[in-house]
Amino acid sequence: MSDFPTTTRVVIIGGGVVGASCAYHIAKAGWDCVLLEKNELTAGSTWHAAGNCPSFSSSWAVMNMQRYSLELYRGLADEVDYPMNYHVTGSIRLAHSKERMQEFERARAMGRCKLSTKCKILVCAPPEQ
Ligand SMILES: Cc1cc2nc3c(=O)[nH]c(=O)nc-3n(C[C@H](O)[C@H](O)[C@H](O)COP(=O)(O)OP(=O)(O)OC[C@H]3O[C@@H](n4cnc5c(N)ncnc54)[C@H](O)[C@@H]3O)c2cc1C
Repeated sequence: MSDFPTTTRVVIIGGGVVGASCAYHIAKAGWDCVLLEKNELTAGSTWHAAGNCPSFSSSWAVMNMQRYSLELYRGLADEVDYPMNYHVTGSIRLAHSKERMQEFERARAMGRCKLSTKCKILVCAPPEQ
């Protein structure tokens, strides 16, 4: 602990994905920062996460953050020179109502508009009576 910094510009408390991401981006911006974790890195909710990386939301701001994250994860292993098993699958969502369909159309339009998120709507024929 003798080399533990006694001064820093930013202190981050908690080494889950949010704290680690803050540390990464703050360090990348050239600021000193120290991350304090009371247990071990990713010991909280992050340890339990299934690792799904969504690209779909009804909020433009959230969808834009998701786009940024997905781009970041693609290049992160090379950037930090640490092997990561990042497997991109895409996802399927089901709409059971007109309202849900409208929500999906809106998200598709947001994806097209600057986010370059690929989103396709497939319409199934209604079951025969
Ligand atoms: C079963 C499950 C599955 C999930 N699956 C997904 C998924 O597939 N995709 C997805 O995007 N999200 C998923 N999530 C949600 C996701 O895991 C959380 O939103 C995310 O991990 C929260 O990260 P965090 O950094 O905010 O919190 P945490 O990961 O909980 O990190 C907080 C950290 O702070 C530390 N801490 C707390 N108090 C102090 C203190 N006083 N001093 C120092 N350290 C402290 C804790 O030890 C902990 O390590 C899932 C969650 C669960 C529970």
